[in-house]
Amino acid sequence: MSLTQARVQTRLVHAGSPELKQGAGPVNVPVVRTSTVRFADTATQAALGRQRAAGERVATYGRHGLDTHQALEEAVASLEGGYRSVLAPSGLSAIVLVLLATLAPGDHALVSDGVYSPVRKVDRALLQRYGIEVEYFSAARDELEPLIRPNTRLLYLESPGSLLYEVLDLPALAAVARRHGVLVAADNTWSGGLYYQPLALGAHISIQAATKYLAGHSDVMMGVVTVDGPDLARQIGATFDALGLAVGADDAYLTLRGLRTLDVRLARHHENALAVARYLAGQADVARVYYPALEQDPGHALWRRDFSGASGLVSFAFRDTDPAAAARFIDALRYFAIGASWGGYESLALEAAPERLAEHGNWRESGLERQSVARLHIGLESPLDLIEDLERAFGATRDALRRSA
Ligand SMILES: *Cc1c(COP(=O)(O)O)cnc(C)c1O
Repeated sequence: MSLTQARVQTRLVHAGSPELKQGAGPVNVPVVRTSTVRFADTATQAALGRQRAAGERVATYGRHGLDTHQALEEAVASLEGGYRSVLAPSGLSAIVLVLLATLAPGDHALVSDGVYSPVRKVDRALLQRYGIEVEYFSAARDELEPLIRPNTRLLYLESPGSLLYEVLDLPALAAVARRHGVLVAADNTWSGGLYYQPLALGAHISIQAATKYLAGHSDVMMGVVTVDGPDLARQIGATFDALGLAVGADDAYLTLRGLRTLDVRLARHHENALAVARYLAGQADVARVYYPALEQDPGHALWRRDFSGASGLVSFAFRDTDPAAAARFIDALRYFAIGASWGGYESLALEAAPERLAEHGNWRESGLERQSVARLHIGLESPLDLIEDLERAFGATRDALRRSA
């Protein structure tokens, strides 16, 4: 039976496994580092060069990545149900790769307003200078069709959105885009590729910051783009080559090692985060919790329909309008490291910057715009310890507020 028919847990374990040589070999693919790729003869070199130019997954130079890279690409393509995956040196570089491969001067792109905020920097620093127009829209509420113009080339979505986790109706949005010949790309970092299948739901391209759940141990920067067919594979491959991108074999190895345990890690992130989200929802100091797996979340019905699990990211707004509430709370935590990124085994806390929240249409109209927001990544610690830690921080925050009153 072929691996493509196996269940996802089996594919996570076996996809990209190395062939045995002379009847024996290691479990894991070796770390194959190189700059020069050697050829048996010049005719082989020329033939492989032609294959690469035609869009085949062939390495003729170190930048293209050899066995380790290829094993990771195969495993991610299997996870995402795609035709091919291409690695990039970070999640953001994977996004830039997609934008530059699909957009040209004079083109228009529609982007959901809950998008990972640095995408707006790419727009300002790069796309605007090259005559590409990006328009942000509230994809959870606005009608898509009236926004599509004759030069609209790309619909770029992230579901759930960053920070506030707005769930989008990807099948409906993709159907409208496809009717107008618009390409659909989705950032699938939140689900790790395990709990959401953008390609099956209508997207042409799925992007992940493998830095997060795929690598899963806070020790790698990695991005990956998965496409639905050979045309996009050729387009993305040509842009990858033109940008001179390269990914280290050690980083590819670490990411593949992380991917093998994605299913067990994510199941626990989901379980722990749900326990924390339920705890937060019961706190008098909390105005609102953002977590689509919570029954009362406005995205819950769509999440249930399209997702098979949830991540460890939980945000919440404080009831108190003191702008320092989140910072004070976060400083009082013991088990939550303070820092950006997420997806490792450990818990993190971050204050959501008000200017980033203001980018989200649903935030601007939520009536909570004066509240400060904390974003938590719930790790693999005991949720009982995490909840005790949160309880202690709420107490410390209340004491500080009383003293300053
Ligand atoms: C972190 C993140 C990225 C960027 O990934 P890096 O590897 O940090 O560059 C992109 N999209 C989403 C949704 C992210 O959370």
